[in-house]
Amino acid sequence: MSVLRKVKNILNSNKTATVSTIIRLLNPVIKGWSNYYSTQVSKKVFSYCDHQIYEMLWHWAKRRHPKKSSQWVFKRYFTRQGRKKWTFGTDQQTLVFMSELPIIRHTKIQGKRSPYRPSDAEYFETRRLQLSLKRLNGFQKKVVQKTNAKCILCGCNISAEHFRRWRVSGDNDISFNQLTSERMGHVTPDDVFVTHRWCYERYKSTHSLDSDDCRTA
Ligand SMILES: [Zn+2]
Repeated sequence: MSVLRKVKNILNSNKTATVSTIIRLLNPVIKGWSNYYSTQVSKKVFSYCDHQIYEMLWHWAKRRHPKKSSQWVFKRYFTRQGRKKWTFGTDQQTLVFMSELPIIRHTKIQGKRSPYRPSDAEYFETRRLQLSLKRLNGFQKKVVQKTNAKCILCGCNISAEHFRRWRVSGDNDISFNQLTSERMGHVTPDDVFVTHRWCYERYKSTHSLDSDDCRTA
């Protein structure tokens, strides 16, 4: 495990460092790793890591005082805190236990959803629509919501990415078109539909229409 390798490297390259230096170096490593994996690995893994880290610390401490007894080394580098027999550090400053750090739930959890899982389908559909509607004007929003951001001509979803590119760089993968036959008077969102550009081009060629892009869009 990467965290154990890191701890080992730190101990190896700080053989004569003070206890507080070691704690200052190790705590961020331990916290960082456990934060990152807190939603992915079990408490068991964290306990295992704690155990391994303490073993390394014990050897690190013992090596410094080859002639001293284990009891002496223990007293010098470890304290008893609460139910724990072994806590590396002093009364003022101790090493954190990975298994005792609070679990931080990242929004990453959302990343575990899958668009292919039926139970997540609604989430992705809502999200797609939200992204599609981003920064559209009121008129455009009404048009897009009307068909749930589906192309009225082919019936397929228009991807949020197409909306984004259209918004940002004017890419014309999508278009807003007046598709009602009523050509006169005030154009309302009811008259306009959002389509894929290619679908609209095909529609136009088969219906031999003039340019029908809706100017309001
Ligand atoms: Zn289409």
